[in-house]
Amino acid sequence: MPGSLAGQVAVVTGGSRGIGRACVLALAAEGADVVINYVSSEDAAQSARAEAEALGVRAIVVRADVGDEAEARRLIEAAEAVFERVDILVNNAGIARVKLIHRLTREDWDDVIRTNLSSAFFCTQAVIPGMRTRGSGRIVNIASMVGQHGDPGQANYAAAKGGMIALTKSAAKELARFGITVNALCPGYVDTDMSSVMPEQYRKDLLASIPLGRMATAEEIAASVIFLAGPGGAFYTGAELSPNGGQYM
Ligand code: NAP
Repeated sequence: MPGSLAGQVAVVTGGSRGIGRACVLALAAEGADVVINYVSSEDAAQSARAEAEALGVRAIVVRADVGDEAEARRLIEAAEAVFERVDILVNNAGIARVKLIHRLTREDWDDVIRTNLSSAFFCTQAVIPGMRTRGSGRIVNIASMVGQHGDPGQANYAAAKGGMIALTKSAAKELARFGITVNALCPGYVDTDMSSVMPEQYRKDLLASIPLGRMATAEEIAASVIFLAGPGGAFYTGAELSPNGGQYM
């Protein structure tokens, strides 16, 4: 039986590892052709491509630093050159630089803003013309619970993710008349490389503060992306979905 996204083309920024990789494989499992973006993990990106292809879809890998405007545009151009369209954009690429505000350097600030927030703006701008022409498109922004409530040590990350939520709502209002939906996912803590660096005691205290008592898996976050990109998500736009185990209500 064809998947719910058969015949569609999806671009996932930061699709080599973690949540992005899980999105790539979930989109492929639903029948979408996938464009896997990465910046440094070539082997991981190529293995994601092989796993996607094994699910019976077409997949390509594109190296691009999506925090750079020209590279972000080149990513979308490469996707359209090979597959002729982009139906689904998942703005997922992200980094964290955890430090208290008085220790944050200008570089820590700029790196996090450009990689998490500017990248979503650049990629969104680049997919709009094609989506407008076809009168349809789904954009899913992987923001964060931290962008909703802030956290010590994460001023740069919270600003980027809060900005992403605001970008989502403005874009949703602008693009609805073209049949394009734009939604934000605001996960709580997810078990990936990004969250693996926390000290043991911090991790214990954190788990105790999550009503469901654990972190999410990357696959659980990808399931929400599939929902927003698929038929069931058709009436959602400008929404903040919060798969966070009840940590923030
Ligand atoms: P991860 O395991 O560290 O993976 C990050 C991904 O982003 C990698 O594929 C990486 O590519 C890519 N990336 C980083 N900088 C990039 C750039 N300049 N250009 C293109 N790709 C870039 O992180 P994750 O936990 O899966 O996080 C994915 C997203 O979810 C991020 O936006 C993060 O903020 C958000 N999020 C994570 C959590 C969590 O607890 N983990 C919670 C809420 C939200 P390479 O492999 O090439 O480095």
